[in-house]
Order: sequence, then C-alpha cells, then structure tokens
Amino acid sequence: PHPTPGAPTTDPFALAKALSGLHFIGGAYAPARSGKSFAVVNPATGEQVATAAEGDAADVDAAVRNASEAQKKWAKVPARKRGAMVHQCAALIREHVEELAKLIALETGKALRTESRVEAGVVADVFEFFGGLGGELKGESVPFDPKVLSVTVREPLGVVGAIIPWNVPMLLMALKIAPALVAGNSVVVKSAEEAPLAVLRICELMNRVLPPGVFNMVSGYGPECGAPLVSHPLVRKVTFTGSVETGKIVYKTAAEKLIPVTLELGGKSPMIVFSDCDFEKTVAGALTSMRFTRQGQSCTAASRIYVERPIHDRFVEAMKRAVDAMVMGDPLDEKTDIGTIISHGQFEKVQGFIEEGKNTAGATAHVCSAMPKDPSLKKGLFLQPVIFTGLPRDSRLVREEIFGPVTVIAPFDDPEAVLEEANDSEYGLAASIWTNNLKVGLDLAHRLEAGLVQINQNLVVQANLSYGGVKSSGLGKEASLEAMLEHFTHKKTIMARMD
Ligand code: NAD
Repeated sequence: PHPTPGAPTTDPFALAKALSGLHFIGGAYAPARSGKSFAVVNPATGEQVATAAEGDAADVDAAVRNASEAQKKWAKVPARKRGAMVHQCAALIREHVEELAKLIALETGKALRTESRVEAGVVADVFEFFGGLGGELKGESVPFDPKVLSVTVREPLGVVGAIIPWNVPMLLMALKIAPALVAGNSVVVKSAEEAPLAVLRICELMNRVLPPGVFNMVSGYGPECGAPLVSHPLVRKVTFTGSVETGKIVYKTAAEKLIPVTLELGGKSPMIVFSDCDFEKTVAGALTSMRFTRQGQSCTAASRIYVERPIHDRFVEAMKRAVDAMVMGDPLDEKTDIGTIISHGQFEKVQGFIEEGKNTAGATAHVCSAMPKDPSLKKGLFLQPVIFTGLPRDSRLVREEIFGPVTVIAPFDDPEAVLEEANDSEYGLAASIWTNNLKVGLDLAHRLEAGLVQINQNLVVQANLSYGGVKSSGLGKEASLEAMLEHFTHKKTIMARMD
C-alpha cells in the first residue's frame, strides 16, 4: 500500500510532493495502473512541484467499480446519518483550511489572501450546508384513490461521475460531491490536469469519516480519463463544469447512454452601471466582480461593463486607479492581490485577445498594475490586467469568453438598448445591475437572460442558493436543496392497494 499523504504539515511544497502521482480509489491512494504520470507546475515560478497520476480507462474502471460496490451499502445508511458524516467532513476541512488554501495557491497561482483561503473556507461551508440536508430527502403522499396509498420516495441515482476544471477546483468538487453523497450516491471525480493536488488532499480528510469507495478521485487528461468516466456503463449521472466545447462532448456521450447530465459552462457576464448608483460602492463592486484577483479566470467574471454615459469617463478613471493599486506577486505572499494565469496555453490565448484588442481601430487598452519585481518570479505566468474602451460591439473581445484579466467598458444611453446588448450573447450565466432605482433594477433583473442576476452586489456562489446558467452557459443547477433533489435523486412512485 502507498503511504497516506496525511502527515501533519502545512508546507505546501512538502504536501505537493507527498501527493505526487496518485489517484484515490476505494479508500486508498494508489498510482496509475499504467505507472504513468505528468508534471504539476507552480505557475508563479515555472517549477515542477509534483506529478499527477496519468489516469486512463483502466483506472476509471477500477474507481467506478469500487464506487458501485460501495454505493449499494451507502444507500442503506439512513439519510440523516449520511448527512451527519458529510457534516463531519466539513469540520475536518475547516481545520485544514490553511493547508488546503496554500496547496491551491501553489498549483493554481491564485493569491492566498484574496482567493485561495476564501475558496477553502467556502468548501467547508458547502459540506456543512449539504450535511444538514439529510432529513430533506422526502417524498410526498399523493391523493389518488381512497383505497390506494400512493407515495413518492427519493432514491439515489447510483455512481455519479464528476468532472471539474482548474479555476476553483475545490469549490466545484464540493458542490458536486457533497449533495451527491448526502443523497446516497457514490462519486468518482476526475480532477483538472492543472490542479489535481488540493482535491486529492481532501480525499484523505473525507476518508477519516466516510466508508471506502463512496468517493474516488482520478487525475488525467480529458479524452483519456474524463471521456471513459462519462461513457462507463456503471456511471448513472454526470455532473460537469468546464468549457462549452467539452460540455457538448460530455452531453453527446451521456445522450447515447440516456443518463442525466448537469453542465456548468462558460460566461460573458454583463455588469450594468446607472448614473444614480452609489459610485464608490460600485467601483469596489466592479473590482471584485471582474475577479482580477483570480486573473479573470472566473465563469461569472463581469467581463462586459456597460456604464451610463454621464459617469462613463469618471468610472473608467476610477477603475484604472483601483486596478493599478492591486499588487501582483507571489500567490503565497499575504501582500499579493493578483497571482498568475494557470498555464502557458491560457497565457497565450489571453495574450492573443489582448493583442487583437490593441490592434482594433478606435480601441484603447488601459494596462494596469505593475509586474512583480522578485527575480524568482521571472518565469511566472503574470499578466497585467487590461481594461479596454472603444471596442466595437462585434469585437471578439466583447463577444467571447476570454477567461483572463481583461474587461471591456462601454457607455450606454438607454436602458432598453443596454438590455438588448447585454442579452445579445450566446452565454447566460450571471449579470449585475448597479442603481439606486430598485424599480429599474428589478425590471431589468427580470428581463436579463442569465441564471443569476444581482443588484448592487456581486457575491460568489452561496451553498443554499440555486446556481447555474441558461443558453450556452449550461444545463441544470448546482448548490441549494433543489439541486440536490433534482440532480442527484430520482423520484420513485409507489402505490399500494389497501382493500
Ligand atoms: P475544459 O472544458 O477544458 O476542461 C474541464 C474538464 O473537462 C477538465 O477536467 C478536463 O480534463 C475535462 N475534459 C476535457 N475533455 C474531456 C472529454 N472529452 N471528456 C470528458 N472530460 C473532458 O475547461 P477548463 O479550461 O478546464 O475550464 C475553463 C472553463 O470552465 C471556462 O469556459 C469556464 O467558464 C468554465 N467554468 C464554468 C463554471 C460554471 O460554474 N459555469 C465554473 C468554472 C469554470
């Protein structure tokens, strides 16, 4: 058996080494059956900090079979007890927030203070919330015939395959596995190639409480490891977060098997700012909404900001000053606001968008914040945030998801016109409206095509509030009691004649 990487250390470098080259299958860490692995790189320095097991169909099959066996017993554990165990996982995760946060900062380049510690805390919140919902797996009794007792009961689906991306891996894993487990399913998670470590670390914590096999973690590349998970005959549900392109592949495979799918995909979220807004609060809100602290690598990032013309120029100036004041640097340094881009591929993609914007006639690129000076970071994937103005509406930068520290600000004169422009997108994930006129705000909120609309705030996902997009942004909801019931159980009808 492989040594368990649960030794007490909060040194992320030591932890990363201990977690190298491993899956978590059937309650134990184990290397890939093929013996293959690939590098996990610290994007702030370019140095390899660990390896990840390069999973393939054989590893997936082993994980799914373990999950399938374990699920049969897990489904018989009373639902409130399952919830209580998931709640215990929350407590363990909370005790280890610091260590998980450092690990996620190391592998993703997200700053510890502004992003990674927040993510680890919310992960514990998610486990805690769903852990409390065991008693909510209720059915109904339905009046039908006085001689017939007819009831519905909620039953688990079986083995759930969960595929996650690299931008908020722990949180997105938690939103999938916590409700799935409480509902009586077992889970096999496929982690993102770039960020397999923190989610792997959580396995050991959960394993202290939960029976072996009810959750499993495999790492590997999408086509070699993600695809066999979706197509595995014993997987009865797939929940996926990632790009639209991959989401469509997952959906097609699941359609062949006729299994349910939840898809959380991309976004191009508009933020609409009216002249009567509380200016300073709106600037502060825009700063968090753009998620430059996550280098804009957020599906809900406000990447199109429409500002009513009378305050447009003042707003742009204020945003430039605010972003300039942000400190870019070592993600593990407490002073750092902005860390790095995740990978070379993303770096080049985002740079391509920035170059295209700079070369667009009439556009101005406001390059903000200073590059870090520390020589040890010179190979890091740091990219100065850019605010664009003057881009035409049909520009790729206005229409496509960039997933980088780039936002576009444009003026508007008429609420109807800005609504039409905001809705003119293939995406429909999130939107926000900033005004002191609630009547206008609520009217737009009803008519914006998005799964989540906020007025005068832009908070991240909350465990108890339904979350998910419309149009190309996805299918189905995550978070909330409704998501657990709708997406991780099926309703069985039972009728009994009593005469
Ligand atoms: P991606 O689609 O490239 O990868 C996501 C996951 O899918 C990875 O684990 C990957 O290995 C796996 N995968 C790739 N090909 C596969 C295949 N053929 N079959 C099965 N799995 C496969 O996305 P990404 O670049 O990692 O993440 C960025 C995207 O995720 C962005 O578009 C972003 O908007 C989206 N995202 C959405 C939300 C949301 O809640 N809506 C949240 C975070 C990120």
